[in-house]
Amino acid sequence: MSQYDFDLFVIGAGSGGVRASRMAAGLGARVAMCEDRYMGGTCVNVGCVPKKLYSYAAHYGHDFHDAAGFGWELEQPRFNWATLRDNKKSEISRLNGIYRNMLGNAGVELIDGRGSLVDEHTVRVGDKTYTSERILVATGGWPFIPDIPGRELAVSSNEIFDLERFPQRIVIVGGGYIAVEFASIFAGLGAETHLLYRGELFLRGFDQEIREYVATEMAKKGVRLHFNTDVTELSQTSLGIQVSTGNGPALHADQVLYATGRVANTQGLGLEAAGVALDNKGAIKVNNQFQTSVPSIYALGDVIDRVQLTPVALAEGTFLAHHLYGEGRPEPDYDNIPTAVFCHPNIGTVGLSEEQARERYGNIKVFRSEFRPLRHTLSGSDERCLMKLIVDSATDKVVGVHMAGAEAGEIIQGIGIALKAGATKAVFDATMGIHPTAAEEFVTMR
Ligand code: FAD
Ligand code: NDP
Repeated sequence: MSQYDFDLFVIGAGSGGVRASRMAAGLGARVAMCEDRYMGGTCVNVGCVPKKLYSYAAHYGHDFHDAAGFGWELEQPRFNWATLRDNKKSEISRLNGIYRNMLGNAGVELIDGRGSLVDEHTVRVGDKTYTSERILVATGGWPFIPDIPGRELAVSSNEIFDLERFPQRIVIVGGGYIAVEFASIFAGLGAETHLLYRGELFLRGFDQEIREYVATEMAKKGVRLHFNTDVTELSQTSLGIQVSTGNGPALHADQVLYATGRVANTQGLGLEAAGVALDNKGAIKVNNQFQTSVPSIYALGDVIDRVQLTPVALAEGTFLAHHLYGEGRPEPDYDNIPTAVFCHPNIGTVGLSEEQARERYGNIKVFRSEFRPLRHTLSGSDERCLMKLIVDSATDKVVGVHMAGAEAGEIIQGIGIALKAGATKAVFDATMGIHPTAAEEFVTMR
């Protein structure tokens, strides 16, 4: 009989924690898990899932208009925020229930409440303490908002989904995934949308040409882009929230969304007392097996700040469960992670940008195709599509694939498999296209 209450105690029921606990229980471990806010984590409650639902909603804003060219005669459609918000709420509640049942059925003991470490084998939740041979910290991340005057007038992605009223004018600050996605969402839903970014061009780290392309396409769809713009102050005025900037006149908005990154959720967890080492950004340091500086304590997902994506947290959780309680698995491979930004049009990308590939390989070939998608020959929309293949000249290997266009996220998932398999440009060329699709361009670029 073990000296501990559990084999594994997981703090945080998000993407990584749920996956690790469910699999560990399936492999025979006695598992408990505590969660204080979001059953299913950020992704399910205030991240990927509601964001994608709102993104679908925003697409209709353009689709009703596009339908006219195909013969549909519609009365002026009207958007009802409360319907979207409340339908989203019901769907998330349904998912929360599914998570709870799934964990219960897997044999995971669920404990509602905030967990903190007492020592390397003990977790406190409320007024109870639990001992465990191992502890997994999977507490995710939290929105970071810089300390500017009037900061309290801004909301983060945690609040934006459940606003009481639809903001007719919104200012979004930031230039990463969340800022760009929400700019498309609110513009599509009909808000006057301003995106303010401190640098030259948003989406730093993505392929330069794709960034420029998406900026042009988003501007065409009505997003007002303000680059090289720092917010200096927010203040409440009779005209709404006044957003003062270092350059140009102040803007006025009904809502200000800050999307300026996320920090590891390590506050108040008792990590320091337990001796768990953090990096200089406050994220938990782990080795390749997700073990922290304290051997019985593990961490994964956004709280270790490697790659803040749900499939990555899932892969880490799967690895850890099998590493600790199964027959072992290869460590997660962080190369060629495909990703999408669900702005309008979507960005789908895998591998190196043109700039990164040039730096790494020197001699590269770039294939590109830019065109008006077939659908828009009748819709009248001026939306275009850009696709790029980056090839290492020495080996003919495709080292980067990028797309800005409708359904880019769906298309790039399959291309990600090709890159993982080490496909060369010759393999792409030898693959038959599917006609007529946009995706076929990836096998016809010469
Ligand atoms: P989380 O999912 O954040 O889970 C951590 C859990 O721990 C939370 O439920 C939290 O309440 C709980 N917790 C924290 N502290 C405690 C405590 N002390 N006690 C008990 N419980 C605690 N990724 C994608 O791949 N695709 C997307 O489209 C995408 N869209 C996103 C959109 C937004 C707006 C945001 C914010 C994120 C998005 N992400 C997306 C990122 C994705 O949500 C995260 O990478 C993923 O959720 C990380 O999983 P995790 O398990 O590490 O943490
Ligand atoms: P990101 O790290 O992607 O972007 C943060 C943005 O905020 C950057 O443009 C950054 O500018 C800017 N910024 C940072 N600090 C400041 C500051 N003090 N003042 C002004 N601007 C600042 O974070 P997000 O919040 O957009 O998203 C968090 C993570 O969640 C993403 O990185 C991604 O991993 C994940 N996510 C994934 C999605 C998906 O898969 N589709 C969707 C949404 C989120 P700079 O570039 O100059 O540093």
